[in-house]
Parts: sequence; C-alpha cells; structure tokens
Amino acid sequence: MRDHNFLIENNTKHLWQPMAHPAEARANPPKIIVGAEGVRITDVHGQSVIDAVGGLWNANLGYSCEPIKRAIADQLQVLPYYSSFRGSMPGPAIELAAKLREWFEPDGLVRVFFTSGGSDSVDTSLKLARQYHKIRGEHGRTKFISFKKGYHGTHWGGASVNGNKNFRHNYEPLLPGCIHIPAPYPYRNPFGETDPARLADLIAAILEDEIAFNGADTIAAFIMEPILGAGGVIPPHPSLMPKIREICDRNGILLIADEIITAFGRTGAWTGSRLWGVQPDMACFAKAITNSYFPFGVVMIAERMVDAFESSDARSANIATGYTYSGHPVGAAAGLATLAETRRLNVPVNAAARGAQLFEGAKALMAKHELIGDVRGGHGLMIGIECVSDRATKTPATGPAMGIVSETTYQNGVMIRVSGPNIILSPPLVISGEDCTAILDALDAGFSAAA
Ligand code: PLP
Repeated sequence: MRDHNFLIENNTKHLWQPMAHPAEARANPPKIIVGAEGVRITDVHGQSVIDAVGGLWNANLGYSCEPIKRAIADQLQVLPYYSSFRGSMPGPAIELAAKLREWFEPDGLVRVFFTSGGSDSVDTSLKLARQYHKIRGEHGRTKFISFKKGYHGTHWGGASVNGNKNFRHNYEPLLPGCIHIPAPYPYRNPFGETDPARLADLIAAILEDEIAFNGADTIAAFIMEPILGAGGVIPPHPSLMPKIREICDRNGILLIADEIITAFGRTGAWTGSRLWGVQPDMACFAKAITNSYFPFGVVMIAERMVDAFESSDARSANIATGYTYSGHPVGAAAGLATLAETRRLNVPVNAAARGAQLFEGAKALMAKHELIGDVRGGHGLMIGIECVSDRATKTPATGPAMGIVSETTYQNGVMIRVSGPNIILSPPLVISGEDCTAILDALDAGFSAAA
C-alpha cells in the first residue's frame, strides 16, 4: 500500500469519480478513506468518524464482521472463481440459492438468478419481465412504469426507469416506452396534497389512467422501491404498494420490487415488500447481501413466473442474459456468511429502534434549524432530511449551504451523505443508541454552522 502522501497528492489526478463532476471533485476533493472498524471509518489524516452513510446503504453489519471476512478468505483458498454460465456452477452459488429460497419463500419468491450488483439486478429483472410476456405470447407487453424520483441504478434499463432527471439527461435518449408517475412525496407533488393516504389514492388513479391510455397489453412491469431511497427517502403510505399490486394483477402487469436498499432489515422488516404486506413477482437485491464486502446481486422470481419459464421448451424461454461474475463463489460465500450473521443478530429489531431514535431526533433538529424543510423516515434506518433556503417557498438549499453542513458534521465526527438538498442517514443496522446521539449532535453543529 502506498504512503498516505501519495494518496493525497493523487486523489483526483487520475480518477473520475462516479456521480461527480471531474473539475468539481478536483476543487472539492473527496475524503480519502483508508480504514474502517465497527461503524467507524478512518480517513487518510487519521480522523475516525461514525459512518452515518453505512458505506452506501450497504454495510449493514458494519466493518468488523469477522465471519464474513473469514468466509471470503477461506473461499479464496478453495475456489477463487468459476463461471456459472451453462455447463458449470460454482458450489457456493448453489448453497446461497437454497438459503435465499428458504428466506424468501414466505414472499412467494422461489427462484434465484445471480448478478454482480444492483444495476445488473434491475436490468435483468426488466429483461425477464419482457421475456415472461413473450413466452406467453403477449409480445406487445414491452413498456415499464415507475415512480418519478425513483432510483434503479445506472445501466440503460435502470436509467430509463429512473425518475430523477439528473441521472437521465446526459444519456438520453433512453429506452422508449418508460412511463413515470408522481412519487408518493407529500412535501412536493403536482396536486399540493400533503395527506399521504389521499396522495396514495391519487397516484393509484394516475397509474390506472396511464395503463388505460397506453393499453394494459403494452405494459410489461411496474418497478418500484418499497421506500424510495436515493430520491431522498420517501416512504409511501402503507396503502400504496398493496394498491399497486392489485392494479398490476388486474391488468396482467408484473410487479418488480427494487429491494436493493430496503432488504435485509434496513426498514425494520426483512424486506420493504414484507413491510407493506405485498408479494412481488420479482425482487432485486444487492448491496447488503454481502454486507458490501463483495460486489454481488440477486433477482428472485415468483412461482407464477417460474411456471411460464420452466414449462415452456420454446427457444424463447432460454435465459439469454447473465454476467461473468453471476454467482461468483467468493461473493456467494460472503452472502452465506452475511445471511447467517444478519439472522443471528436479528438486525431489523435494532434498525427499527435506532431508526425511531434518529427520526425523532431529526424532527427535533427541524424545530431548531430553519434550513430543514422536511424530515422523512419512520421505517428503520432510512432517514431523509430535506433542506430549503426558504421554508415558505420550499426553495431547495444551495450547494454551499449543504457543503457547510456536511463538512462541519464531519469535523464533529460523523460522515453523512448529501444528495442535492437531501441529507441521507443510513448507518449500519448494528449502530448503538450512543452513536445515534453522536450523529444527531454532530448534525446539530452542522446546521448551526450553516445558519
Ligand atoms: N436500485 C436501487 C434502489 C439502488 O439504491 C441502487 C444503488 O444505490 C441500485 C439499484 C443500483 O445498485 P448498484 O449501484 O449496485 O448498481
């Protein structure tokens, strides 16, 4: 490993960062992270801070999970790689598939398809949705519906169903036939509707209207995050996902749950769909499935789709998609160890308790700091704090103000994620109450500095 001076001098010289403007990154270089322990990360200057980001919503068990590290090291010795394409299958992939089926059979999900990350999982699910309809002779069902403000990764399919223009406009034209409906976002919506239940009814009506306008027989799937994450943490009213399920069923449309953030306990339930009592036709997983220690993704598929694929011997039922690293044995070993630890620690319980603490604490900060326009959460360790320069007009806070909040919070011992005017809190699910108090205190200092 190079010395730290090398890292500081070369931080932005050779590297383009994801989700950053190269020149902006040079002017405002990223923190260089060189170590991690428990729920803390250490930067190149030796400063150790609480990671209120949880890596990127994915280090659910923190950074010192020895059983996962051991499983990775052991698997590297035995079988560091083999392909899962037709003709071979690494052993750990079979074991993990069996374990995932055991976990998600109560949700009706009975088949497993491995990918190498979240964006892969989303694009795979969109392809499988189209293929499902083709197998059944419904060739016209090619369109997708999703929420504005939704995030579904950065591949072409995911970018096309993404509902945030920032992730779209540099790469357009994207897939045709992607329809976006308003997000369940009471703070800002086209109707000025602040009541989440009434907003859910309006959104369901718009969905029905879009289906009627386009023709149900043109639509393959609706894809949604059970709680919108990257869009600023937007939990829908509990009635919405069940309503969407019912509308999809009535119209022969598949429902894909993008659980890439929400699964494995983050919402205080084992999955976001389970939180809302819904069984999707497919669920996309990644991130916390290996506790972030190895890039890995999964699509899980419901019984009703399985029958269509497995009872057809037509060439159209061949799954002509997949990745070199699908079912990677090291990732699968990491996944098995992660599931075991996640279950042993029963993380949804702590996620719910600590999530409530952070949500209540963030609301208390709102009473104190004018910069905070809205606080969202209430379902585990997903908290969104939306900042405004003027509460009356809801004008989004500026970059410099957000910069002051995040830098001061960091100097007070906590890494937070700023995404546009939103601060997102998504710490590891094993975080303590004491550390949550420290997060809130550091944020308090951050908001005071920006006032
Ligand atoms: N879908 C959701 C809901 C996500 O939050 C993300 C990543 O944050 C993705 C998909 C894409 O996952 P990845 O970055 O692993 O490709």
